[in-house]
Amino acid sequence: MIAYIKKDDKQNLKEIIPSEQDLLKITCPKCNCVGRFYLHGFYTRFLYVAILVVNSFLKDKISVRVLRLKCRNCNKTHAVLHHDIIPYNRYSLSFITEVLASFFISKYKVSEICIEFEISEKLFYTFLDYYKKELPELKAYFKGKIQDEEEIFEEFILNITDFLIGFFLRTKRHFFHFKATNTFSKYSICHFHIIFFVSS
Ligand SMILES: [Zn+2]
Repeated sequence: MIAYIKKDDKQNLKEIIPSEQDLLKITCPKCNCVGRFYLHGFYTRFLYVAILVVNSFLKDKISVRVLRLKCRNCNKTHAVLHHDIIPYNRYSLSFITEVLASFFISKYKVSEICIEFEISEKLFYTFLDYYKKELPELKAYFKGKIQDEEEIFEEFILNITDFLIGFFLRTKRHFFHFKATNTFSKYSICHFHIIFFVSS
């Protein structure tokens, strides 16, 4: 899997096609060869996104065309995902951060947030749990200057693109990518074989 990030964030979430120049720079997650990819078709998946309408958010289900690249060296195919798509999660990263912003910044009640975003309370607390599990990374990023989880969230939102690029390159995993476990910790960090490509 290849997560494709553009610094100016002007990417089309519904369909990402790397430029010819970028294709020559992407490393194969399987064999580590550089620039050996060619386009190998698309598949469709659905994603929940939050759309701002006047002053409130609407939950929208969109269809995303995901490009597959094939490596000429090892013949393996890899999906190219917009960085807003968390692998195997039906909710976009920005949907989850908008839910959390309603809680930490706008100070809405959990019941109000669940109505606005059309999610269950259980799912809200799952998202909150994702955030709490990522807090050590956020605290490290802000070099311990802020400790309060609400203030850290505000700083995170203000610096989100830079934070995510640094996070992806440092940890080699996707932010908010967790898998359910059978242990009492409920969710654990998912280390997934993923390459993050930052296009300038
Ligand atoms: Zn390869």
